[in-house]
Amino acid sequence: MSGQGSKRVAVIAGDGIGPEVVESALEVLRAAGASLDLVHFEIGLGRWKRTGEAMDEDDLEEISGCDCILLGAITTPPDPNYRSVLLRLRRALDLYANIRPFQSHDLDFIIVRENTEGLYSGVEEVGVEESRTLRVITRRGSERIAEAACDLTARRRRLTIIHKSNVLRSDRLFLQTCREVAERRGILYEDMLVDAAAYNLVTNPQRFDVLVTTNLFGDILSDEAAGVIGSLGLCASANLGKSRALFEPIHGSAPDIAGKGIANPVGAIRSAAMMMRWLGELEAAGRMEEAVKRALAAGVRTPDLGGRCSTSEVTGAVAGYLMAKES
Ligand code: NAD
Repeated sequence: MSGQGSKRVAVIAGDGIGPEVVESALEVLRAAGASLDLVHFEIGLGRWKRTGEAMDEDDLEEISGCDCILLGAITTPPDPNYRSVLLRLRRALDLYANIRPFQSHDLDFIIVRENTEGLYSGVEEVGVEESRTLRVITRRGSERIAEAACDLTARRRRLTIIHKSNVLRSDRLFLQTCREVAERRGILYEDMLVDAAAYNLVTNPQRFDVLVTTNLFGDILSDEAAGVIGSLGLCASANLGKSRALFEPIHGSAPDIAGKGIANPVGAIRSAAMMMRWLGELEAAGRMEEAVKRALAAGVRTPDLGGRCSTSEVTGAVAGYLMAKES
């Protein structure tokens, strides 16, 4: 699908259902007429098992030279010698803003998760009797994630700042900084404790518009939100830095269904649409999103949504809508 002046996209299919859903995303990108220069990387658990390294510095350098990354999913084994590929990529490219939109027939909200600090700071002491993980909250980190959330809220209704500042004193800095940014930007905002947010997401999800929160809270609330809209398999995400970006479905490698041909490809397809939007291909992105909506509305669904379709049937239906529009 490459052409002159094409953007360079690093493709990391990864492990488990990763390659299955990335193949779907690439088929839909082709059907949308995308002109991209794809560079494929074999990175993840499979490579680690073969070579003892999931990703090396040469990969990192080559990936850094690409415009953006499309990723499937990577299995993280519970082995202390394994270094998480995603955390390394997020740190190396400083992909600080994790944007996770959730849409269904009656819901439409976005979780903006800080991606580089909080309880994922990597500052840990592991002992036999006692282990510690340092929760790092900085003004700079809070400010830039609040700015990213306000950018999105400026085109929408209201920002909700999610925190636990009644117990975690580190969250007072996060809350205060987010408030300051929202006030300076003239954004309508409220704040909410994370436990109340978890409850409201299930009982009254319509009340939310844009939510901004720290790393671990964002991770957990997003899986909850995915359950509320119907399946992890539906949800996409962007990991944004100042000049680089990584797009991936929010689900993992789902070893329980890998190889069965039933993984829901919609999260990966929607991630590819987010990538096209970021690359400035707004028209193609819009058509991809519309084609997904049409396929779901027509009942073309994988088993996680109660349907009977395979991954390739859903992919074929989405690509079919796109090609019908092309002609
Ligand atoms: P998971 O997201 O892989 O799966 C959770 C459940 O959701 C499973 O029952 C799975 O079958 C289902 N599911 C997930 N995606 C689906 C899809 N597209 N279609 C249909 N059903 C789907 O989470 P897990 O089982 O906790 O993690 C498995 C592995 O993935 C772990 O090694 C974890 O570290 C890794 N992981 C990777 C990423 C990533 O690469 N971004 C994210 C989360 C987890």
